[in-house]
Amino acid sequence: MKQEQPEKIWLSSPHMGGAEQQFVNEAFETNWIAPLGPNVNGFEKDLESYLGNQHAVACLSSGTAAIHLALIMAGVEAGDEVICQSFTFCGSANPILYLGATPVFVDSEPDSWNICPNALEEAIKDRIKKGKKPKAIIAVHLYGMPYKVDEIHAFAKAYDIKVIEDSAESLGSTYKSQKCGTFGDFGILSFNGNKIITTSGGGALVCNNTLDKQKAVFLATQARDEAPHYQHSALGYNYRLSNVSAGIGRGQMQVLDLHIGKRREMNEFYAEIFDEMPGVTIQSEFDNEVFSNFWLTAVLIDPEKAGFTREDLRAGLNDQNIESRPLWKPMHLQPLYTSSPFYGDMVAEKLFEKGLCLPSGSNLNFSNRERIKSVLTNFR
Ligand SMILES: *Cc1c(COP(=O)(O)O)cnc(C)c1O
Repeated sequence: MKQEQPEKIWLSSPHMGGAEQQFVNEAFETNWIAPLGPNVNGFEKDLESYLGNQHAVACLSSGTAAIHLALIMAGVEAGDEVICQSFTFCGSANPILYLGATPVFVDSEPDSWNICPNALEEAIKDRIKKGKKPKAIIAVHLYGMPYKVDEIHAFAKAYDIKVIEDSAESLGSTYKSQKCGTFGDFGILSFNGNKIITTSGGGALVCNNTLDKQKAVFLATQARDEAPHYQHSALGYNYRLSNVSAGIGRGQMQVLDLHIGKRREMNEFYAEIFDEMPGVTIQSEFDNEVFSNFWLTAVLIDPEKAGFTREDLRAGLNDQNIESRPLWKPMHLQPLYTSSPFYGDMVAEKLFEKGLCLPSGSNLNFSNRERIKSVLTNFR
């Protein structure tokens, strides 16, 4: 007889705080069922205040849409080259292709697992030598871990190249006490269903001034010129966030810091378990200048020392109906991007080969954790 499966434990599932429904109800009661309205304005204000009130935020339909608009506003056009961290989700890189531009991928470094300053400089120099200076750099704070902001932005400044800071996974993380998402010429956030806060689907563009925000909103609402009829001189997009979704976002902002605390507790929970297991290393803050929201806890497994592989562990968890997932497969290894240039070595490739993301949601309760722990501690 087939045994009944225990309840599924997800990698990162939505976690409502309680106030979301009330904001959504207000949208219904006032009939603001549109891609604009009081919740959109309110959510933008909440985000601006959370990020330190030095930035103007435009809420959009997704993080990918935010990267697309950031590239346009950075002046990227067809035929241009854009540098992008290779170790990331495709949402970071695909908008380069939307524009007919060419991605140039750069490897990671072992401390943060994010874009490597040395490989970045090599890429910039070589592209310039080949006749084209890259128009922008897309750097990513993966799994909530800040990249080496000072080093990366110093190179960008020295070569006068704009930085698009992909903070889709790092809302609430900080570098030298400053919030991730606020360092670049543009920052981007995602509120997809699996992110640290969710609006079911959504994203935001973080701008350094209100003029940039106005331009982003103009482009995100089909680039309508001022006229009583519909008049268009520029190519626009339908990228604004719904007022219903923004209501969920306003509720989520009330519990963001609480939920970061819980994600960090999950990271400690795993750190304790793996402390006693040879061959398993957990991603941790690489110096005291960085603070990670630990959106996902990730580990690297050295099969020689551990006695099992990443895939063994993933299968073992899956047998108990517990979801885990290999780290991002680098973009330069994706079939879609085989013809794109790549600078670096094997760092991202090794991370992909050995790495696994573990259930990290802020809503995992004691009994969920006991089930995970029992698989991990009895593994070998
Ligand atoms: C989720 C994510 C995106 C894209 O965000 P969407 O809202 O899903 O479009 C971009 N970059 C990274 C690193 C992400 O994790």
